[in-house]
Amino acid sequence: MNRHNSEQYTKIKKSHFFNSVFVQPGVYSCAIDCFLEVSTYLFLPVLSKLSARSQFPELLFAAASDYQNQGGNPSLLAGIREPVWSYLRERCSSFQARDCNASFSQIFEEKTFGKLNPDEVSLFATQRLFESYCPTCNKNVNLNSNIFLTYVSQSGLEKFRYDKISWPLYVSSIHTEPGKLRCGNCRSLTDEPLATSVVNSKFLFIEFAPEALAGLIMYDKIEVGNCWYNLKTLVRCYQSHFTCGIVSDQKWLYFDDLLQTVREFPSLEAMQRDIPGGWFFAVFELNGHSSSTNRIEMPVSQDYEMSHKFDSFNVNVKSPHKT
Ligand SMILES: [Zn+2]
Repeated sequence: MNRHNSEQYTKIKKSHFFNSVFVQPGVYSCAIDCFLEVSTYLFLPVLSKLSARSQFPELLFAAASDYQNQGGNPSLLAGIREPVWSYLRERCSSFQARDCNASFSQIFEEKTFGKLNPDEVSLFATQRLFESYCPTCNKNVNLNSNIFLTYVSQSGLEKFRYDKISWPLYVSSIHTEPGKLRCGNCRSLTDEPLATSVVNSKFLFIEFAPEALAGLIMYDKIEVGNCWYNLKTLVRCYQSHFTCGIVSDQKWLYFDDLLQTVREFPSLEAMQRDIPGGWFFAVFELNGHSSSTNRIEMPVSQDYEMSHKFDSFNVNVKSPHKT
């Protein structure tokens, strides 16, 4: 293939979700369609190995297996999509109207995933345990917290004194450094907290703020808390429309639910060169440990809480991205 050719992709016939706007004017499904493509390629293989699944993982498992088994017929696909979409409409405010204002990253919040069993938590959230000491109360302060989505913004990078190209170091800091702990008893800030246990999740979800996107370098491999992660998916929001790229057999498949065909690119660079801008959401998958000490076991106590100052770094950040 000519590298300088403007068309660096191959159009392939492959069943995929089609936007609901084709059959219901004014109803847009591109956010949920991208999520279901990602769920099928990334989550289905691991969800199928679980002996028990909670409500949301079971919904995803059912939809993704049906899609894989009987995909192709657009009306069947709409039926496969509906239960997951309906679940998201109940829990994610931006999905309620089924219009162009869905916020993709609302899916990746703890309240959307709902109650998960320990195996499921280890797939979707990094679990952290911190320990500190309250000098006022003369007692130990422990904090147990999970991270589902990591939000990379300019102000967040600046707070940690990282430049934009070093965003993986920022993500690693967010996942391993405790920020500040507040004593649950007297509310005062505790002494320097220590991370006593960090268990890295199977999947890592990272959203980039709009101002962080310009000139952003996307890496296909990053190290977070002593673990290597490989880039598996990029989601794009451009002119109020969500599309996604997913790694499959070392190629990048590009799904656009307004198009009949799926595009296959030889590399991430080729895909981003052909479809520039708007790649705001990344999913990485755990590849292996870079050292043998990613987990330290400590007794758990949850009667203390984290200060609000730290919360602003990670989960539940309102997303400016719209469909
Ligand atoms: Zn105290």
